[in-house]
Amino acid sequence: MTRDQCVQLDEQDALRTYREEFDLQQGLIYLDGNSLGPLPHRVRKRVADVVEAQWGKSLIRGWNEGWIDLPRQVGEKIAPLIGAGPGQVICCDSVSVNVFKLLAAALQLRPGRSVIVSEQNNFPTDLYMAQGLAGLLGEGRCQLREVTTDTLADNLDESTAVLMLTPVNFRTGECHDMAPLVQAAHKAGALVLLDLSHSAGAMPVVLDAANIDMAVGCGYKYLNGGPGAPAFVYLAQRHHERVRQPLQGWMGHQSPFEFETGYAAGPGVSQFLAGTPAILSMSALDAALDIWQDIDMQAVREKSLALSQCFITLAASAPALASLTLVSPAEPSARGSQVCFSHPMGYAMVQALIRREVLADFRAPNILRFGLAPLYTRFVDIWDAVDALRDIVGSGEYLKPTYLQSAHLQSQHQQSKHQQRNTVT
Ligand SMILES: *Cc1c(COP(=O)(O)O)cnc(C)c1O
Repeated sequence: MTRDQCVQLDEQDALRTYREEFDLQQGLIYLDGNSLGPLPHRVRKRVADVVEAQWGKSLIRGWNEGWIDLPRQVGEKIAPLIGAGPGQVICCDSVSVNVFKLLAAALQLRPGRSVIVSEQNNFPTDLYMAQGLAGLLGEGRCQLREVTTDTLADNLDESTAVLMLTPVNFRTGECHDMAPLVQAAHKAGALVLLDLSHSAGAMPVVLDAANIDMAVGCGYKYLNGGPGAPAFVYLAQRHHERVRQPLQGWMGHQSPFEFETGYAAGPGVSQFLAGTPAILSMSALDAALDIWQDIDMQAVREKSLALSQCFITLAASAPALASLTLVSPAEPSARGSQVCFSHPMGYAMVQALIRREVLADFRAPNILRFGLAPLYTRFVDIWDAVDALRDIVGSGEYLKPTYLQSAHLQSQHQQSKHQQRNTVT
C-alpha cells in the first residue's frame, strides 16, 4: 500500500468531514484518542459560554436555566450511541465510582449471591473497586473472583451475583465474544455489568437488544468530553423499580430541595447521582456529543477496522518492523479500535515516536498502543505513523541514550511497582 493510496482512501471516506470538528495541530499525528479525545471546536465555544454567560452572569440562576437537568440530558445523548432506549442512562462521576455503585446495586438485586466474576486482565480500576467493596462488605456478602478470560463462563454459578466485563481489552484491543458470555451469566441467574470505556463512540453497542443489565462508560476517550469528563451509568429499565445504590447523595434523592433528613431514592437512573454535577466538564461533554447526531456507528466501525487493517498490513510489509509482535487480534471482528504490538524496547520506541509528533502510548510491560478514532484519524496518518516507526526502528534511533535512559527508568519504575507518571488510562 502506497501513501497515495492512503490519500485516496481518505478522499473516498464518508466520515472525512468530521475531522474539521476537531482542533488538531498540523503535522501532529494523534493516535491516543482512546486515552483522551482531542478538543472539538464546539466545546471551546460552549465552555467559554458556560463560564462567561452562565456562571459569570446567571450565577445561581444557572441551576434553573438548565444545569440541574444536564446529567439526564447528557445521558440521553449518549443513549443512542450504546443502543439504549430513553430513561436508562445518566451522566455522573467517574467510571470507577460508577462501577462501585453498580456492583453494590447488583449484589442488592441478587440477594443470597455474593460473587462478582471478572477477568484478571480487566482494567485495574474495575477490579480495585470490586476489591474495595468486598473489603467493606466482608466475604460473606461480597467476593471478587478474578479468572482468566477463557474460564469466565465456567466460573458462573448460583453464587454469582454479577459478571463484570470490559468488552474491549484496554491493553490488546481484543474484543470478547459477548453473546455466549451474557447468555451463560443469565442462565446462571447472574446480572451482567459492562464497562464500555473502549467501546462507546468506537463501535456499535446494543445494550437493550443484548439484554445487558448495567453498564458504565467513559466521557473523555472516544466521546471527546475533555480531561476528566464525567462518566455514565446505564441501568436497564426492568431493574429500576427494585434497585438501590449505596452512595445516597442528595442529588439522587427524590426531592433534593426539600432537605428532608431521610433518604428517598429518586426515580429510575436518577438515583445514581450522588453529589452536585460538575457543570463545567459536563457541559464540555454535552457539546462534544452533538457531533454524533447524524453518525452511523456501523460506518464508524467499518472505518475503524479499515484503519487497523491498514496499520497491520503496512507494519507487516516493513522488514525493519519484523521484531515487533502484533498483540491485537489479526481477525478484524475480534479487534477494538486500536492496534498494539509488543517489543521489549517498546517504551523507548514510543518515546522516539512522540519526539516526532506521533502521539501513541505505551502500556506496561512491553506494549506499543495505537488508538484509532474514525472521526478524525486518516489513512494517511497511519501511513506516516508506520513510516516514522519504521525509520525509528530501522535506523536504531530509539537506541539513543535519551530514549534508553527513559526506558531504563521505566523498567526501574515497574520493578518498584510505581505507576508511570505520563500516561493515564
Ligand atoms: C479509561 C477506563 C476507565 C477510567 O475510569 P475513571 O474512573 O473514569 O478514571 C475505567 N475502565 C476502563 C476499562 C477504562 O478504559
